[in-house]
Amino acid sequence: MSTTPRTIDIAGAGPAGLVAASLLARAGWKVTVHEKNATVGARFIGDYQVIEDASDPSDSVPALFSRLGLPAPPWRPATWADFFDSRLRHVRITSKVPYGWFVTRGPGEGTLDSVLLAHAQASGAEVRFRSRLEPKAAGLVATGPQTPDGLARETTFTTDSVDRVRVLYDHRHAPGGYAYLFTLGGRGTFGCAIVRDFSRIDAYFDSSLKRLLEVEDVHMENRQDAYSFMNFAVKETAKRDGRDAVGESGAFQDYLFGLGMRYAISSGALAAEALLSGEDFQALQRARFLRRQRASIVNRFLYEAGGNFGLSLFMLLARHVDFRRFLSFWYRPSWWRRALAPVIMRAWKNRGRCAHRLEDHWCRAREKEIRAPELGRIA
Ligand SMILES: Cc1cc2nc3c(=O)[nH]c(=O)nc-3n(C[C@H](O)[C@H](O)[C@H](O)COP(=O)(O)OP(=O)(O)OC[C@H]3O[C@@H](n4cnc5c(N)ncnc54)[C@H](O)[C@@H]3O)c2cc1C
Repeated sequence: MSTTPRTIDIAGAGPAGLVAASLLARAGWKVTVHEKNATVGARFIGDYQVIEDASDPSDSVPALFSRLGLPAPPWRPATWADFFDSRLRHVRITSKVPYGWFVTRGPGEGTLDSVLLAHAQASGAEVRFRSRLEPKAAGLVATGPQTPDGLARETTFTTDSVDRVRVLYDHRHAPGGYAYLFTLGGRGTFGCAIVRDFSRIDAYFDSSLKRLLEVEDVHMENRQDAYSFMNFAVKETAKRDGRDAVGESGAFQDYLFGLGMRYAISSGALAAEALLSGEDFQALQRARFLRRQRASIVNRFLYEAGGNFGLSLFMLLARHVDFRRFLSFWYRPSWWRRALAPVIMRAWKNRGRCAHRLEDHWCRAREKEIRAPELGRIA
């Protein structure tokens, strides 16, 4: 481990940047995190998100937080959910050990973002708000997604509803994605996430909400809406403008469901560990994440190619097994996924313009780039 305290500027105060900042500051580095917005989590609205706890069955999210010396945010274990298919057939999935952890996101109190911010500051990192830092000037880039490969509209609300975790798998109402309705402890989140036909996001949002409320109405008050997006790409080198990049800016993302928080935390921690030990971050991230990320392209292909029939099958199969084990099967980079990945990557390869600004990477051809005015409305 290096004994000389060093100085670093990190661009972006999302989970990836804040975790890296905490670890480096605790080791005695002088850390300055630059955040372009006035708060952390500015693109989120207190919405519930799930930190998945299935991709590494030998580890758990609470154990990961404790190993990294991070405080646990107020979280709720996810051990069940109600899945609905295109015909509104319903299955309840369950797991003995949590398959994920519900946290809230955004600038408010008790969100993952605020808890990580407080910890980074208490560890000695300086966080400068309204301070945009260009990736090429940063020691570490953690600026989040660059361009929409997946798009979501969400609403948060207060409710008197009992706890519900509903997910709708129906390509007609959420093309390539899914819709979700969580009501937990008097607060709710509804979201519709899609990977194509972005210009019709509002229509999909309305129709998938209506569809899920057909099951049972949910009273919503104090609604707040927002759009946000995700990046999907697979890279050999997680660098942006020549600088090591973590979290979604380094394309660490789960291609199947867009569950990027665990990747953000793990990649931020890995980059800090590499800086402290003098090891090569790129070699470490390839060894840790690349096979799993390539495997997730196969999952995405199956998710889309199977259509609504495939989604019903996915759901019905999930009913019969422990859901954490079921999900970990999907994340596993098994031999057949590794064999299929290059074939799908060749067929889907983007041979046109790409806005990811990543070094040697693979990304998918788009039906249509989202236009700048649309981006303005979303970002
Ligand atoms: C609607 C929605 C729902 C989601 N649900 C889930 C879920 O349930 N589970 C899950 O695991 N993941 C989910 N994700 C994905 C998850 O939120 C992201 O993968 C995660 O936030 C990525 O963390 P990050 O630190 O890389 O980036 P971010 O959280 O985006 O943080 C990046 C930060 O960098 C700042 N920034 C950008 N450019 C600059 C600059 N030049 N200078 C200074 N600051 C800059 C931004 O303002 C931002 O604060 C969801 C995403 C969306 C959009």
